[in-house]
Amino acid sequence: MYDFLIVGAGLFGAVFAHEASLGGKRCLVIDKRNHIGGNTYCEDVEGVTVHKYGAHIFHTDNKTVWDYVNRFADFNRYTNSPLANHNGELYNLPFNMNTFYKLWGVTTPEAAEEIIERQRAIATAPKNLEEQAISLVGTDIYEKLIKGYTEKQWGRKCSDLPAFIINRLPVRFTFDNNYFNDRYQGIPIGGYNQIIEKMLEKCDVKLGTDFFSDESRYKHIADKIVYTGMIDEYFGYCHGELEYRSLSFEPETLDVRNFQGNAVVNYTSADVPYTRIIEHKHFEFGTQDKTVVTYEYPSEWVRGNEPYYPVNDEKNMSVYSKYLDLADKEKNVIFGGRLGTYRYLDMWQVIAEALICADLVVS
Ligand code: FAD
Repeated sequence: MYDFLIVGAGLFGAVFAHEASLGGKRCLVIDKRNHIGGNTYCEDVEGVTVHKYGAHIFHTDNKTVWDYVNRFADFNRYTNSPLANHNGELYNLPFNMNTFYKLWGVTTPEAAEEIIERQRAIATAPKNLEEQAISLVGTDIYEKLIKGYTEKQWGRKCSDLPAFIINRLPVRFTFDNNYFNDRYQGIPIGGYNQIIEKMLEKCDVKLGTDFFSDESRYKHIADKIVYTGMIDEYFGYCHGELEYRSLSFEPETLDVRNFQGNAVVNYTSADVPYTRIIEHKHFEFGTQDKTVVTYEYPSEWVRGNEPYYPVNDEKNMSVYSKYLDLADKEKNVIFGGRLGTYRYLDMWQVIAEALICADLVVS
């Protein structure tokens, strides 16, 4: 008999399992995939560390989390400075003075502010994402850098998307291409797998094992379950399915040293079907002879696909609240991580929440 069955060998499950085993608890970790790490999993292709489930850049303002994760790997100085390609023209992201210089030829913050101010339609209550975006950054930035990308990402027109999806659109009036404002940022040298491997060192791990393949057995294999799969699936979808957006990743190995000169390039034109091309070697300043790129195509989620982004609109949140009521009644089950709590969470948040959870539960 185990103290904990942990369903999911992603970051939440691994941090929890690590803390529990440090506390002397016996843990069994299962994952339906044939590898550990959840969406942080990396593969070695031609000596390049490839982020199999999309670019994962670690960033946080939380010193405790930063110190914690640095116990498991050395991080490099990678700084995320993505580019946007719109009809073959390149723009710096996030929207900053370099972007405005390219858009309008302006060289001073005052001139950029003046143009944005002129283009903003000051809508007091934007009815949809299009109105919201224009009210925040004006028409040029919206048309060239937001509209096509967002419509591909969500599979719907911006005028049919709710305004709340974009609460803020950070605009920087400095020549600063660093995407994040956080104090700490980087990529673990050699990828994320080593972190998860070290975290799970003292646990039993069974891969290729779906909790639902033998639910009644797994429900009685441990005193408590930490469940990081989809909460609606746990309850047999009894209140209906929660919706997600999905992605498909199409990797290619190319016989060139340097394909696009940057790790992340967003494609913001509507007529290009993918949203991003990731060139993985640039996460680690790679010098290999070949390069590996991944094209990201957004797609609808249907049961069986990988669920990536929860659609936290009113309809889904109302369904989720019903599952939350059921979860409250499952006294021996803790729902954690992005699928267990139906939220988009960055890695640092997952670590912070798993540490708090372990602190409360492991005595
Ligand atoms: P997951 O990593 O999804 O792990 C859950 C695990 O549970 C999976 O391995 C799954 O196979 C397993 N599982 C589910 N159901 C079952 C079952 N029935 N039985 C057995 N196992 C099951 N965060 C950042 O901080 N920076 C980034 O740059 C970043 N980029 C991202 C890009 C993309 C495309 C996506 C989707 C996410 C990104 N994230 C990023 C978020 C990051 O991936 C998450 O914060 C983190 O991986 C969540 O960890 P988790 O353990 O909650 O979930």
